[in-house]
Amino acid sequence: MHEMALSSAVAATVEKHAKGRPVKVVNLTIGKLRQVVPDSLLFYFDIVTRDTLMQGAQLKIEIVPARLHCTGCGERWEPDFPTFRCPACVTGVVEVLSGEEFQVESIEVEEDEVCTAPK
Ligand SMILES: [Zn+2]
Repeated sequence: MHEMALSSAVAATVEKHAKGRPVKVVNLTIGKLRQVVPDSLLFYFDIVTRDTLMQGAQLKIEIVPARLHCTGCGERWEPDFPTFRCPACVTGVVEVLSGEEFQVESIEVEEDEVCTAPK
């Protein structure tokens, strides 16, 4: 259900910025440490945006690699899974350089359509 909640959060953010315009594309940045399953996110996004201005919008997901830094020995590495123990000195305090992002970077909306209605 993790992705369901995230999809709702994304939809709420996009809706706010779309200001009533139909949304075509949503560009999303997700850090690897978030452990989001993109396919699952796409699946739920389709559900939560059904019958809204975002229906059928394309969700483009960019995954940011996780990068950690040990403040004890200066080691930097990219973990394949969330582990916060320095592989070099083990005892150092580890800080996250990247990988915790979860952000709607931008959206693309339908431009105002030419009004064809009779005046
Ligand atoms: Zn270390």
